[in-house]
Amino acid sequence: MNILEVHHQNSLIEENYIEFRNTGQELVDVGLTKGTGGCLSKHLNEGILVSATGAQLGNLSKKDLSLIKEVRNNKIYWMGDNKPSSESPLLFELYLSIPNVKTIIHGHCPRITYDKKMQKYATPAYVRYGCFGEGKKIANILEQNGGFVILRFHGEISIGESLKESFKKLKQKMEEAHER
Ligand SMILES: [Zn+2]
Repeated sequence: MNILEVHHQNSLIEENYIEFRNTGQELVDVGLTKGTGGCLSKHLNEGILVSATGAQLGNLSKKDLSLIKEVRNNKIYWMGDNKPSSESPLLFELYLSIPNVKTIIHGHCPRITYDKKMQKYATPAYVRYGCFGEGKKIANILEQNGGFVILRFHGEISIGESLKESFKKLKQKMEEAHER
């Protein structure tokens, strides 16, 4: 890592911070996730910008954004102050398998996750947490479901062209879960 890379990383964070912070706050405000659950991410030319592991999604600081530069032999190479989300292997594989995805949000909303009628959007099996090799299974379901999937007994994933769009998709599913 050289000094130019560090400067570049800082400017990427500057450019994207407000969007991450605002979306994270909205997610928590409407109950789509809470505490340190879930993550936000965005695919940039330089890599994948992702919220850090242990970050409070409702109150992100600039230090909570890490940049995944590269993945080789299932090892994640990243820059930043804090380790990228533990769901990074899954995020990476989804970006790789689905073309034109710019953003992925992962939330933990029990109201959706465990709702009976929402199970039509769920993966058939439990998805192992933080492991490589799970992305391909989920990518197909995401594409069939219009960019949304429930990781069985775990949480939600939504993809989009912007964090706003991914957020909107999640919120619509929450409304659907509330419909009776
Ligand atoms: Zn999760």
